[in-house]
Amino acid sequence: MREVECHCGAVRITLLEPSETVTSCNCSICRRYGALWSYGTLETIKVTAPSGGLEEYAWGEKGLAFVRCRGCGCVTHWESRSAEYPDRIAANMRNASPEDLLKLGVRRFDGAETWTYLD
Ligand SMILES: [Zn+2]
Repeated sequence: MREVECHCGAVRITLLEPSETVTSCNCSICRRYGALWSYGTLETIKVTAPSGGLEEYAWGEKGLAFVRCRGCGCVTHWESRSAEYPDRIAANMRNASPEDLLKLGVRRFDGAETWTYLD
């Protein structure tokens, strides 16, 4: 289990089966956020936030919603809005402690073009 929280502490994410690697994606949104994603499902990644404490951004076909804390603005996770994969979620491990971040391997994913890992 691993826990991360946003800068102000309002949003907490618990990863019940955390991966040892995170993904750095170069797509149009991930590269701008600078996020490092740990993927899971609604069963393995739990988000706790106060009522009204989250804001989200989606574009295009709106298959994913990128969620941030309304208080401090940190991007905390994305959630699927797709009917095909409704339980998909990923936590932004940039919210982890420096000690935990050091332990994580980073994989580079080409979300911009080929949808394959570059390493
Ligand atoms: Zn916050």
